[in-house]
Amino acid sequence: MIGKAMQNIPFFDGHNDVLLRLLRECFDQPVASFLSGNQVTQLDLPRAQSAGFSGGLFAVFAPSLEHYDFEEYQSPQGYNVPMPPPIPLDRAQKLTFEMFDLLHDIEAGSEGQVRICRNATDIKDATAKGQLAAVLHIEGADCIDADFKMLDTLYERGLRSIGLVWSRNNIFGNGVPFQFPSTPDIGAGLTELGKTLVAECNRRRMLIDLSHLNEKGFWDVADLSTAPLVATHSNAHHLCPSPRNLTDKQLKAIADSGGVVGINFAPCFLAADGLLQSTVPLSTILAHTNYLVDHLGEDGVALGSDFDGIMMPEEIRDVSGVSIIFAALERTGMPSKMIEKIAYNNWIRVLSQTIGV
Ligand SMILES: [Zn+2]
Repeated sequence: MIGKAMQNIPFFDGHNDVLLRLLRECFDQPVASFLSGNQVTQLDLPRAQSAGFSGGLFAVFAPSLEHYDFEEYQSPQGYNVPMPPPIPLDRAQKLTFEMFDLLHDIEAGSEGQVRICRNATDIKDATAKGQLAAVLHIEGADCIDADFKMLDTLYERGLRSIGLVWSRNNIFGNGVPFQFPSTPDIGAGLTELGKTLVAECNRRRMLIDLSHLNEKGFWDVADLSTAPLVATHSNAHHLCPSPRNLTDKQLKAIADSGGVVGINFAPCFLAADGLLQSTVPLSTILAHTNYLVDHLGEDGVALGSDFDGIMMPEEIRDVSGVSIIFAALERTGMPSKMIEKIAYNNWIRVLSQTIGV
């Protein structure tokens, strides 16, 4: 039956923030909340297993002390949310260790159901065994010192992917602000240390994530990196002119490098008006998917949900809702081979080429 076959295919996801959310909102029992399920997060193990979520990049993000409520700043004309200042190294490191510990505790308590994966073979093996494959990612290199000692410490603990900046600036580069509408071409490129970090990541086979980086920084990475270009959770700027999204020129560079873009489900990075409203329809996700396929080819598009980082469209709601995207793509006539690439194979291919087999 049309639209049914794709409903339960396994998928791999480029971005979630469940570790931070578990620490903040399930603070008495973050491990048990993930493993047994809860009513708070958009992703937990029982819902992941029944939804076909085979794994993903699990972000470690050190929040600022300052908190600005996105919804307070938005109007029909757009928004401009203040950017918190850089955070001190010791705070970033303390919070990073807490989230690394949490994922290791989840793995240890999972009786083999959750596995921290260090290369693409680990991921494929975990998926074959029905284990949830988690790849550790840091969203912003704020915890990395200028001598890169922390890079080795975290690599040993499983880190395989780095966003050089979250939107907040750091010693390596400048991120895009939360403002709309806006070009991503705001601020200077990578610092000299940032350029060295690119080489250090390439040398260790760590994925470099371009989501959140400003455009000059993007072109610095494009010039310097020896790996395919990857934006784990960003959409098409042409359809939603948020600086978090990618211009056609950036998409071309990603395509030319054999890279991947993970589709972000956050309404503010999908809707043409840029507003954070759960009413954004599924058809908007399909429009970005088709646009990205047109500009990146069918090997360059993947998922990057942003679960537990932001409000979801009401048709998706949480990890349980992802399969409706595949069913809808199938109804539009997209071949099942292409849907399987978007759901799983493209991430595995680009991870093989970045973090290794
Ligand atoms: Zn993000």
